[in-house]
Amino acid sequence: MKPAPFRYHDPKTIDEATGLVASLENARCLAGGQSLMPMINFRYAQPDHLIDLNRVEGLAGIAVQNGLISIGAMTRQRDIEFSDEVAEVAPILQAALEHVGHRQTRNRGTIGGSLCHLDPSAELVNCVSLHEGAVLKARSKSGERTLAISEFAAGYMSHGLAEDEILVEVCLPVWSPRHGYAFVEVARRRGDFAIAGVAVLMELSGAGGTIVRAAISIAGVSPVPVRPSAAEQALIGQRPSPELFEAVASALPFADVLSDAYVSSDYRAHLARVLMRRGLTAAASKAEERWGNA
Ligand code: FAD
Repeated sequence: MKPAPFRYHDPKTIDEATGLVASLENARCLAGGQSLMPMINFRYAQPDHLIDLNRVEGLAGIAVQNGLISIGAMTRQRDIEFSDEVAEVAPILQAALEHVGHRQTRNRGTIGGSLCHLDPSAELVNCVSLHEGAVLKARSKSGERTLAISEFAAGYMSHGLAEDEILVEVCLPVWSPRHGYAFVEVARRRGDFAIAGVAVLMELSGAGGTIVRAAISIAGVSPVPVRPSAAEQALIGQRPSPELFEAVASALPFADVLSDAYVSSDYRAHLARVLMRRGLTAAASKAEERWGNA
């Protein structure tokens, strides 16, 4: 298939880009093109204007300061995958990126595009949802505003940006250097979107200690990632054990789980429970290992 006709715009600054977004009807921003171009070629999306963000200055980059890691929306997934800063303060992102598409798609795909495409199984969306206090920065002609992931992920593949806004940055609070982490998923084929995926962060009181902090985010079971807060609370103060993780995972009260032609909602819910148990186990042993190396 070939795309319906559209006009191409190649802004060099964010002000130029937000000016175009504000003045053009039926416009779409182009980032890595790894989702948008297939959608345009299949005519699932028929924008009249394509605003290419690839040469807009200042939209890519990674910085760690004041307890936050800030990642520009146009930062390529591959750059995140090989970033020393990310390895040090948010290794979960690199664990997740191993599951995102293929290295060829990650060479072009961006974190902003993944967030704005908002596939229910998108690993980077799940990782942002995992970070309590994560902030997404949006720019328009009238200025900048911030959104929590709960405001941004408005529904099935629909983000909370206004028509005239461009996502410019995502900021994640940094966990302690000894936190454990795990990203587990099952997909029909390597590089496919996941049937279900679970991301876990966990902090222990010390080597062999109890769980003092835990975050879990589940992708694929609903239009936006699920944060099982009751399960997170049930872990606090407990010593990691297979029995604890089995009890917490099997108590997950899933409702209205997504189903499709390939996967029933029962199977997806069962898979999410199994992955949650595996994720908790892996995060706890990573935390122990990091305490051991401390
Ligand atoms: P684009 O495709 O350019 O844009 C995506 C959408 O976001 C568009 O609607 C666009 O208008 C909008 N957009 C982009 N940037 C902005 C911005 N800054 N502000 C406002 N709107 C914006 N993804 C996964 O998560 N997991 C996978 O397993 C996976 N497998 C894949 C396998 C293949 C073969 C391919 C081709 C893609 C796969 N993807 C997967 C998708 C890939 O990760 C894309 O990179 C990602 O979904 C979109 O990022 P992008 O930069 O290419 O955005």
